[in-house]
Amino acid sequence: MNIRFDAVPPLDPKVAAFVGGKHAMLIGSAWLPAASGQSLDVIDPSNGRVIAQVPAGDRADVDLAVKAARTAIDGPWSKMVPAERAKLIWKLADLIDANVDMLATLNSYESGKPIGDSRNGEVPFTAETFRYYAGWVTKINGETMTINAPGDWHAYTRREPVGVVGQIIPWNFPLSMLAWKVAPALAAGCTIVLKPAEQTPLGALYFGKLVQDAGFPEGVVNILTGFGETVGAAMAAHPDIDKVAFTGSTEVGRLIARAATGNLKKVSLELGGKAPTIVLGDADIDMAVAGASSAAFFNAGQSCGAGTRFFVHKKIYDKVMSGIAERAEALKLGAGLDPATELGPVVSQQQMERITRLISEGRNDGAEIVTGGARAGDVGYFVKPTVISRTRPDMSVIREEIFGPVACAMPFDDEDLDRLAKDANDTEYGLAASIWTNNLGAVHRLAAKIKSGTVWVNCHNFNDVTMPFGGFKQSGWGRELGEQALQLYTETKTVAIRLP
Ligand code: ADP
Ligand code: MG
Repeated sequence: MNIRFDAVPPLDPKVAAFVGGKHAMLIGSAWLPAASGQSLDVIDPSNGRVIAQVPAGDRADVDLAVKAARTAIDGPWSKMVPAERAKLIWKLADLIDANVDMLATLNSYESGKPIGDSRNGEVPFTAETFRYYAGWVTKINGETMTINAPGDWHAYTRREPVGVVGQIIPWNFPLSMLAWKVAPALAAGCTIVLKPAEQTPLGALYFGKLVQDAGFPEGVVNILTGFGETVGAAMAAHPDIDKVAFTGSTEVGRLIARAATGNLKKVSLELGGKAPTIVLGDADIDMAVAGASSAAFFNAGQSCGAGTRFFVHKKIYDKVMSGIAERAEALKLGAGLDPATELGPVVSQQQMERITRLISEGRNDGAEIVTGGARAGDVGYFVKPTVISRTRPDMSVIREEIFGPVACAMPFDDEDLDRLAKDANDTEYGLAASIWTNNLGAVHRLAAKIKSGTVWVNCHNFNDVTMPFGGFKQSGWGRELGEQALQLYTETKTVAIRLP
């Protein structure tokens, strides 16, 4: 398996100037270094080289950003009428579209994902998310209630912004995770302190410039870079942050929920997953093979909805497995910025080591490595797309979230839907699942039995801005996207009036 290193086009001069420039955090209207003067390295995961340095903030910077956000929500932002806020958010979406080359390049450079996925997928989706929520700004209304008590009453609810929100996002989809959080919070009238992941801060910092260009009042969006253990932890514990929204590992989700108890800030969490991919005996094999491969290998498997546990009917098991293996072996590995790349590196050395450790555990536990099974090359953080067969439910490859390009499979021999659902639900996670079949009855019965926030049928990893996304069980609290995300960022106030 060859990795191409020689086909990365030179950076556009404008992008190179931004990456190579001095980076600072957006606090109020100012671009500031960390109060401590510390910084951290941003790395190109295709070769391990340092490409930039950004401030490594800490609690002092969080304090400043929260003050700026508080001033904005007490001041100009809450005084702006909804239609004006909507216009600003729409303008921001237009600026994202206008800067698609810059944003896509930054996104792929720092995360390693294929540039086509950034340019044609993630960045347009980011703009679309802002536009969708721009539409909601003017449609967030309360209700009037008909009162049971004797006498004359008028009672109604108001939907008010929850206040200053802290948003902590991961590195796997740096820009769409930003949009899923920032857009509904702005629509609801909140102000924001955003922390991108330490691996992928550059796209978020450029987004900060676009926020300023769009003309948002200062302090509405503040962007802090730094480590989770310092900036992130200070946000989760901050007494003047009203709500924290987090996407990342279940382990850190638990820390955040605990840290939030100090002022009982509202918490929403989108955490890990271990999605079952169930292929019934009647499934269209070509469609299932293509879909299951993409479920496992899209974004190098670094997706919380990734298909990781394949349950495939015995009579088509060998065909499906060899089809997936064939596709895995055909994937072109390379740097994200090489336009021919189909599978980029994983984001960091730490992730690469975790993935290859889990694969080795699977091998030692007696699973069969059909293809892949190791690091690819010795430069950068590439992992061979891997297919593992003959897994058992107790193996760590089946229990733990791998977050790498690894498909683990086991056959089943009768279509007892209760047993299939039981096996699919045999995990602490409950984010997503997919079912591959044309049997309508099986689809609806299984969809009802599977304990996960999303069930895809004859598709996987399909997200639309209108569709709520989030987890059952230890995959999280709350739902992002769709109208439901607005509930994460609004408080309901009841006003009851006795008429004199
Ligand atoms: P990973 O380990 O795969 O990087 P994490 O869940 O640790 O995933 O990271 C997701 C986000 O959470 C990142 O922005 C990271 O900086 C942040 N983070 C990590 N640890 C903490 C923490 N203790 N408190 C708050 N945020 C954190
Ligand atoms: Mg971590």
